[in-house]
Amino acid sequence: MRSPWALYRVLCISLLVVLSQARVSTTSAQTPTGSKTQNVILVMIDGMRWQEVFRGADPDLLQTLGSDMPGDAKQRAELARQRYSRATAAERRQTLMPFLWSVASSEGQLFGNRDLGSDSHVINRLNFSYPGYSETLTGLADPRVDSNDNVPNPNPTVFEWLNAKPEFAGKVAAFGAWEVFNGIFRAPRCGFVVNAGYDALTTIPSTPELELLNTLKRETVRVWPDEAFDPMPFHTAMEYLKARKPRVLFLGLGETDDWAHAGSYAEYLNAAHLADDYLREIWELTQSMPEYRGKTTLIVLPDHGRGEGGKWNDHGEKVPESMQTWMVFLGPDTPPLGERKQTHPVSDSQIAATLAALLGEDYGAGVPKAGAIIPDVLGK
Ligand SMILES: [Zn+2]
Repeated sequence: MRSPWALYRVLCISLLVVLSQARVSTTSAQTPTGSKTQNVILVMIDGMRWQEVFRGADPDLLQTLGSDMPGDAKQRAELARQRYSRATAAERRQTLMPFLWSVASSEGQLFGNRDLGSDSHVINRLNFSYPGYSETLTGLADPRVDSNDNVPNPNPTVFEWLNAKPEFAGKVAAFGAWEVFNGIFRAPRCGFVVNAGYDALTTIPSTPELELLNTLKRETVRVWPDEAFDPMPFHTAMEYLKARKPRVLFLGLGETDDWAHAGSYAEYLNAAHLADDYLREIWELTQSMPEYRGKTTLIVLPDHGRGEGGKWNDHGEKVPESMQTWMVFLGPDTPPLGERKQTHPVSDSQIAATLAALLGEDYGAGVPKAGAIIPDVLGK
């Protein structure tokens, strides 16, 4: 015989089922007609300049590369010169970022080529990392976000906002080279997996690959105490993707910025080239999985730009042009307009609402001050 408690449980479960079905139907009603995106993967490449994305490696910087360097560094610089030097800007960018200039440029959209009247930028005026990530992920340029300290973000990210919805709960995850992503995403209270810096990933069943990654994070030399080399977060994120199949995934790569600050244009280019190859791997892997194929949008952008000419390695409030960014959208709902020309300016603050809209969610209704959606990338 059922106890009153058992009956109460049955009643509660029935109620939950009815409520969740009601919620599902409400959500699908909000999904833009024809929207196919079920998953979004957001990749941010720290401090990667629009100049290299659209023009390839800078011939002037390549020219001087390595001339003042000793031994190994000089050899690596020479190698980079051979690798990325080409006669024209079109060839140079194709050589540096072949995925962007094949698949993304023919099937998606790229904003930020100022040579063609397309402007993408951050609005936070500080032009450094935490404010840039926070602007992108929350949709707001909050003046309280004014340092790179690993402190909790005063605002929830769109990832936290989505994870609070039943249809996304537990299907959101963030991976990043920089340990400060813990603060930016407000781990652990955000309620989803944030794996950053050198932290081992232990929340999914171990695999030989994951075990090796965790060992490498522990044992590899730490050139930067708060930031792991990009292969660590990338491969960790891929292991997680295969195991848990998240609907909203963040990947933060950091070597472009680190090598630029170190003054190594060769390694900055190598990091950009590797990041492009990671985008290809992500795209090919997701297109091979039924959970993702034909229903996943990839968004790529940096958290800030850098200076021009001799100031290429610098960024921040005192380098005004480091507000300049770029962005890439590739997915089933984005019309294949390729490299955009003469567009309305877009900003990193519009990413949160656009990402949510691709998933059929109205971020602006929940966070009215967030940047508006970018309509050009919706409604194929
Ligand atoms: Zn940065």
